[in-house]
Amino acid sequence: MTRPTTRPTAASAALFERARAVTPGGVNSPVRAFNAVGGTPRFIRSAAGAWLTDVDGNEYVDLICSWGPMLLGHAHPEVQARVAEAVARGTSYGAPTEPEVELAEEIAARAPVERVRFVSSGTEATMSAIRLARGFTGRDVVVKFAGCYHGHVDSLLASAGSGLATFAVPGTPGVPTSSTELTVVLPYNDRAAVEKVFAEHPGRIACLITEAAPGNMGVVPPEPGFNEFLAATCRANGALFVSDEVMTGFRASRFGQWGLDGALEGWRPDLVTFGKVMGGGFPAAAFGGRADVMSRLAPEGPVYQAGTLSGNPIATTAGLTTLRLATDEVYAHIGAAAETIRTAAADALTAAGVAHVVQSTGTMFSVFLTDVAAVRDFDDASTTSAPAYAAFFHEMLERGVYLPPSAYEAWFLSAAHDDRAVSTVLDALPHAARAAA
Ligand code: PLP
Repeated sequence: MTRPTTRPTAASAALFERARAVTPGGVNSPVRAFNAVGGTPRFIRSAAGAWLTDVDGNEYVDLICSWGPMLLGHAHPEVQARVAEAVARGTSYGAPTEPEVELAEEIAARAPVERVRFVSSGTEATMSAIRLARGFTGRDVVVKFAGCYHGHVDSLLASAGSGLATFAVPGTPGVPTSSTELTVVLPYNDRAAVEKVFAEHPGRIACLITEAAPGNMGVVPPEPGFNEFLAATCRANGALFVSDEVMTGFRASRFGQWGLDGALEGWRPDLVTFGKVMGGGFPAAAFGGRADVMSRLAPEGPVYQAGTLSGNPIATTAGLTTLRLATDEVYAHIGAAAETIRTAAADALTAAGVAHVVQSTGTMFSVFLTDVAAVRDFDDASTTSAPAYAAFFHEMLERGVYLPPSAYEAWFLSAAHDDRAVSTVLDALPHAARAAA
């Protein structure tokens, strides 16, 4: 049962009705429709700092931050100013520009990549990285983990087949079996499964792709040494290790997930995908990696990849400005605010007698309403109680906090989450925890 709202929602409801007549489900990305939690999705009119304002005039502390990108908060004055200047110079040229070079240099300075190619979405980044891995190795099989989301690439919208190391089946109607029959899906954090699949397909695996730390089944940190093990196993078998940092890149830490465990444990990916924060709220994404691998891309090499709006000057200006402003202090601020909210959520749920697990990687975290001791893979994540989360979500919404409308997502904060925003969240948590009980 979702809580009846006392907030005005008539304008959102009216827009939702109009939207449903012209757009499937009324939204342009499924989770926005509130299907998992019920109720009227809020149509947003504007955002500033840590706050969203909907079309009925309700204000909410935003704990989604556009699903990650808004690291500095909404409508950051410096980003707005640089973008306005860029817009005044024209919006797209279809020719190379200086901001592209500067953003590629900035990314290469912070992430373990020598060369970078820009695209417009994380989906394109992972799709292109896989094509490049196949082109580079001359092999065809791709290994991924259940619960890791890499965008809506046909071959990666795959569910595990009937046994470990067997090929996957389509994860949605519309994906032909031929698109997933070269994909193997394994349980996350399971070293034995990885070893088995490499043993069973010698010389056939082009790459293993993983979220550097999964955030799309809620936050499930890699067990210590897991990424290092994956990188070493790929290297030993002539496959490429593709680390998807679309969500974690420049978000989990200044250097992404790699900065949290790669720099310490000594793992290095062959290819990395980026998106979200590096676009500063605009459609920009990228993939990059080893120079010898990246040089196989057209026009230098034979592997074709292209894009009309790739490296768009507005998006790259927003991304570059965001990354330049994303200093150690920004990450320290977000990390401290995240810890305060994580701790308060756990305390409130404990006090209300609600079984839960709170997990984090760097500044990203998730609250799972489950009685498992720890969530280490997709099966564990699936034990989360959807009805309890829906009740929790709606109580938070009622009290002015906009959480992800799905139990399997990370919560994101920004540099703009100040004391007022954090205390709004802290005040709401005990009520939400009791609603979930
Ligand atoms: N990879 C990861 C880890 C993601 O979280 C996402 C999106 O959430 C994607 C890829 C796909 O990115 P996009 O939605 O920009 O296509």
